[in-house]
Amino acid sequence: MSDKLVYGNIGSEMAMDMESRYGAHNYHPMPVVIAKGEGPFVWDPEGKRYFDFLSAYSAVNQGHCHPKIIKALTDQAQVLTLTSRAFYNNKLGEYEKFITDFFGYDMVLPMNTGVEGVETALKLARKWSYNVKGIPENQAKIIVCENNFHGRTLAVISASTDPDAYKGYGPYLPGFVKIPYNDTAALQKVLEEDAANIAAFLVEPIQGEAGVFVPDEGYLKKCFDLCKQNNVLFIADEVQTGIARTGKLLAVEYDNVKPDVLILGKAISGGVLPVSAVLANKEIMLVIKPGEHGSTFGGFPLACTVATAALKVIRDENLIEHAYESGKYLREELNKINHPMLKLVRGRGLLDAIVIEPKDGIEAWDVCLKLKEKGLLAKPTHRHIIRFAPPLVITKEQLTEAINIIKSVFAEL
Ligand SMILES: *Cc1c(COP(=O)(O)O)cnc(C)c1O
Repeated sequence: MSDKLVYGNIGSEMAMDMESRYGAHNYHPMPVVIAKGEGPFVWDPEGKRYFDFLSAYSAVNQGHCHPKIIKALTDQAQVLTLTSRAFYNNKLGEYEKFITDFFGYDMVLPMNTGVEGVETALKLARKWSYNVKGIPENQAKIIVCENNFHGRTLAVISASTDPDAYKGYGPYLPGFVKIPYNDTAALQKVLEEDAANIAAFLVEPIQGEAGVFVPDEGYLKKCFDLCKQNNVLFIADEVQTGIARTGKLLAVEYDNVKPDVLILGKAISGGVLPVSAVLANKEIMLVIKPGEHGSTFGGFPLACTVATAALKVIRDENLIEHAYESGKYLREELNKINHPMLKLVRGRGLLDAIVIEPKDGIEAWDVCLKLKEKGLLAKPTHRHIIRFAPPLVITKEQLTEAINIIKSVFAEL
């Protein structure tokens, strides 16, 4: 590109070329380079502005570079960043009190990435099942759902049913039972056959990566009740759905469920640092004793101050109600698009998706390229689904502008 640079000193062409030359090819990004972000917008090095309709997979719920979160980051960075957990620090306890109050649990175990949160929850469930439930050592099983996405570690891909995620990485970790999502009968059957050896049921309240698959009303509640009847822990992976994204603080609230173990990540830091958290009550959390689990960075002072600021933004800017209303408006408007390629609109709050009927070789990817040309960034999941998940701070006026971009792309298809 010969365009003059507006942000940074490397143009789009060169940035993409260097990534593909020197970086592992473990992603297939859209051909756009982001050099700056603010609120719901990002800009490329040449100065073109885009609506960010991915929000870093819902990590940037509070909007890019939220001033209050950035201030918390820069203030704390000048005082203390990392201590390790070999010592106490003066930020962790205050954060732990704040986040446990915020979500209504006794205790939190702080980690960094989402998948570490999931790993922590799996370890917690296994240990609980041996120490409290009394499952014989090494016999514990954990029920997971087909088409899940819980991250990329070996344990977690062992629970995956997506060949892209697990193929070529064996041998796999045993102890997972895979059942269809949104199928309470399948859960009931496994529990009837084997409840004595089952530690937990791990579930996403909405399957985000699978294509924003929203389960039937009452599904989570029924699963929760089945777990309770069988002394099985109900673990919710709210790494993507949590923190106001779906128009509730947590997506499990749509079914009035309080998980035994709650996993959070992504937006807990507003996209500023990798911060994750596992929340549970004492009877569960205290089965892990000193030295039995941890992370050098988990609960570091910088993360504590950033996450506190990021959660306060959610509360102070009423992002829960705003996401609920904005999502309703977005889906209403998307449903007005009358086009043979647009098969379905679904979602909750601002975690939404459209299902595309590929036609004349045009797939979701191609639709995303056209959206990009018009100034809106979204990424397909699978070949026929496009997720729309803008930062929750997007105003109604901005959302209307973005919707008009989507409408104009369909008008030209
Ligand atoms: C993104 C995601 C994870 C993994 O988080 P990372 O920070 O990428 O490790 C786990 N569960 C769900 C539901 C996710 O969306």
